[in-house]
Amino acid sequence: MRLKGKVAIITGAAQGIGAATALKFAQEGAIVAACDRNAEALGAVVEACRQAGAQASAFCVDMSDRERVDEMVATVRDRYKRIDVLVNNAGITRDARLQKMTLKQFDDVIDVNLRAVFHASQAVADGMIAQGSGVILNASSVVGIYGNFGQTNYAAAKFGVIGFTKTWSRELGPKGIRVNAVAPGFVDTPILATIPAEVLEKMRADVPLGRLGKPEEVANVYAFLASDEASYVNGAVIEVAGGMTL
Ligand code: NAD
Repeated sequence: MRLKGKVAIITGAAQGIGAATALKFAQEGAIVAACDRNAEALGAVVEACRQAGAQASAFCVDMSDRERVDEMVATVRDRYKRIDVLVNNAGITRDARLQKMTLKQFDDVIDVNLRAVFHASQAVADGMIAQGSGVILNASSVVGIYGNFGQTNYAAAKFGVIGFTKTWSRELGPKGIRVNAVAPGFVDTPILATIPAEVLEKMRADVPLGRLGKPEEVANVYAFLASDEASYVNGAVIEVAGGMTL
């Protein structure tokens, strides 16, 4: 068990990569604080974590709401006495080409995919500094490295998350806190639901491994980065993309 006794907050944990990460962390012995705004699906994930033998709690919270994020972090700290890992995974897409993108589409994606990462990381940082250890993991994307058609808002946020990662790894590294980002390629989760079938087929064809990723394959990387096995990995952006960017 690579995460035995570690208290981990995972955002966007109700489905997709976040749900797979919550379950993987539970299987690795972590105490899981699972956060999402979708209460019903979140309950099922927490139940699955408990079935795996872990302590787990559900927090129904919109991660773009700073007050609620602060409350959630304070509750987790009160309940479990420490926070060892934060996985900033919650994310949305609101795609449109530059000329068609509305301000609301732009703001919604920046609020969840960028601002919420700032909120949660700022909320956990003091506690991690006081305990002299911690891990912050941020969900970027290959889109945060290469850009993507129709994703001005998403690309800005995912590039920004890499900026956070590199900056915080410098600021917090000396305090014993590691900060890394994961940049998945195209992973088979509900977030891909709005992508037309023919575009998905082209994506699949561009991947040397010949398929989309599975949520568990990203969760495995989060588990490694959260564990002490990654003790010298800091400020890294790890692509989990089946080689699609080669
Ligand atoms: P998903 O849509 O399946 O799940 C995202 C989860 O985040 C949902 O449960 C949703 O309810 C939750 N969420 C959204 N906004 C929230 C908010 N304001 N507060 C709390 N919870 C919120 O997505 P996924 O595919 O599992 O993606 C997870 C992360 O990985 C995202 O940051 C995404 O950008 C990133 N990513 C995904 C892919 C992919 O191909 N699936 C590729 C690269 C990066």
